[in-house]
Amino acid sequence: MLNQHREKLRIGFIGLGQMGARMAPNLLKADSNAYEVFAYDVMDSNIEMTTKKQSKINACKSIDQIMQQNPDCVITMLPTTKIVTQVYDEVVSLKKKYGASEKIRTVCIDSSTVDPKTVQDIEQLIKREQLNMSVMDAPVSGGVNGAENATLTFMVGTDNKVDFEFAQKNILSKMGKSIVLCGEKVGMGQVAKLCNNLVLGISMAGVSEALVLGTKLGMDPKVLSQIFGTSTAQCWSVTAYNPFPGVMENVPSSRNYEGGFAVNLMLKDLGLVNSAAKNIDYDLAMGQHVQELYKQASEHGLGGKDFGAILKYFQEQLENKQK
Ligand code: NAD
Repeated sequence: MLNQHREKLRIGFIGLGQMGARMAPNLLKADSNAYEVFAYDVMDSNIEMTTKKQSKINACKSIDQIMQQNPDCVITMLPTTKIVTQVYDEVVSLKKKYGASEKIRTVCIDSSTVDPKTVQDIEQLIKREQLNMSVMDAPVSGGVNGAENATLTFMVGTDNKVDFEFAQKNILSKMGKSIVLCGEKVGMGQVAKLCNNLVLGISMAGVSEALVLGTKLGMDPKVLSQIFGTSTAQCWSVTAYNPFPGVMENVPSSRNYEGGFAVNLMLKDLGLVNSAAKNIDYDLAMGQHVQELYKQASEHGLGGKDFGAILKYFQEQLENKQK
């Protein structure tokens, strides 16, 4: 136990969107007496949605209200780099206000997808303020279904073994099934996440292009997908999340690309990937091109659709050309 004298772990959860609203209730699922969860989002409706799912979650009206609790852990699940930085500026200054003189250690876990430098800057801020507090990055893979079913993969970056063990045992294992220490340095979780999504963005676009080509040349998409699935084209985008409507049930492509992981979120991640690469003078040949393709799909009106809609974009481009 991190802060021994406490009967229950106090957890602050900030950001209750598609992912956070599904993750926070899982903390209380196994043993609702072990935790007190204090949750906040800028949108009241998202707080309500979360407390409806799990009535034991305490709704908070501000980050201030969370930090007044002197939490053992703060989890953030936020959309952009800018917002993550703003939220942690507030969290750190409130820790200083309410918790600096106390013995309570606060372990912060940022599960948002941002660039590695964002969390490294937050770590520096905490060090400068000399607070009894730490931060680790733990971005996720597994999407909304993984968040709902507590089967997420967490990719963690930290050099603090004690805090990692605390987070793994008490927090992350309640919301996910695979917790991987990606490196003993803050930011390494984000490096793993961004590299994963670079492959994912490219593989989804590649599978989509091939399925459009094959079907336009006369093949049945189910047969073609079956062949991919047992041949060298085999990958997650073929066998678990096929982008061709009707090939698989219960995936976004079979419900007009609703739900899932939006084109605009993939675009955000590819922007982070390419800027992380540019920082080391690496111009990603595939990464830059695939970012441009998702940008075009977004401008084509598909930004809010699942990223498998890149197939729909390719199809429509071809159909417009053939008119
Ligand atoms: P989302 O936009 O649905 O949720 C973000 C939430 O943060 C919203 O509810 C928003 O109101 C809230 N918010 C914004 N500013 C805030 C502030 N200042 N204080 C408190 N709350 C604030 O996004 P999401 O889909 O839940 O994704 C969250 C993060 O997880 C993103 O970084 C995303 O890239 C990553 N991610 C998402 C998925 C997915 O499938 N949706 C998968 C893996 C990773």
